[in-house]
Amino acid sequence: MLRRICVTAVTTTALAGLGVAAGTSAQAVLPVPGPSLGEVTFAAADDPAHPWVLVNKTHPITPRDWAPQRLVRPDVAALGAHDRLRPVAARALEQLAAASERATGHELVLVSGYRSAAYQGDLYDRYVASHGRREADTFSARSGHSEHQTGLAADVTEAGTPFTRFGGTESGRWVREHAWRYGFVVRYPAGERAVTGYAPEPWHLRYVGVGLASHLRLSDATTLEEALGTGPAPDYPADDAGPDGSEGPEKADRSAR
Ligand SMILES: [Zn+2]
Repeated sequence: MLRRICVTAVTTTALAGLGVAAGTSAQAVLPVPGPSLGEVTFAAADDPAHPWVLVNKTHPITPRDWAPQRLVRPDVAALGAHDRLRPVAARALEQLAAASERATGHELVLVSGYRSAAYQGDLYDRYVASHGRREADTFSARSGHSEHQTGLAADVTEAGTPFTRFGGTESGRWVREHAWRYGFVVRYPAGERAVTGYAPEPWHLRYVGVGLASHLRLSDATTLEEALGTGPAPDYPADDAGPDGSEGPEKADRSAR
């Protein structure tokens, strides 16, 4: 059984107070009775029901067809049918959207929330058919590898703006600065493709809880991989790769990770 760890204490300030150089992993230095923090974070990273679950190209959801027990529609404007989230993420998104609207005067819209493993597989297969596997892998997750399957990921945009342009909007800038206060991280930040496996996606928010989101904000970590102390996930393992496909004809607006 996982114990609750207060990650808000694991900041660079706290580490500096312990006489630890910047960049040293928190797991290595914090005295925690019983299982080490490293063991706890790794257990959490493997648990699809835990807000800290790690989902990327080298760390699929296990089991791959896992689905949340409960999904709800957050009280925010939504586009399309994939408008449900786990309750904890839905409540947090409601607060984030309300605060964003107060600050910017623009409505924040949910573009895509929970997606099942089967739907993600269909979506990915369609992108492979139109763009080829190599390119599809740069913007669409394979089944079992999408954070949307956890019910903790939300693609958002400013009302009236395609989500691919969200990063340049007033809401996009506000969300980038303040999402952590509501327990979200911008999961695929600029310049971290070698770690996350994906180009920047200012619209893809992942709920991890205020503790871990605060830790990322206050530490040098910019990715969940760094915060959890796991290795980078630039690509799928070779034995997970399918046959090479041809390059696709064009890029389209998409929300497939
Ligand atoms: Zn997404």
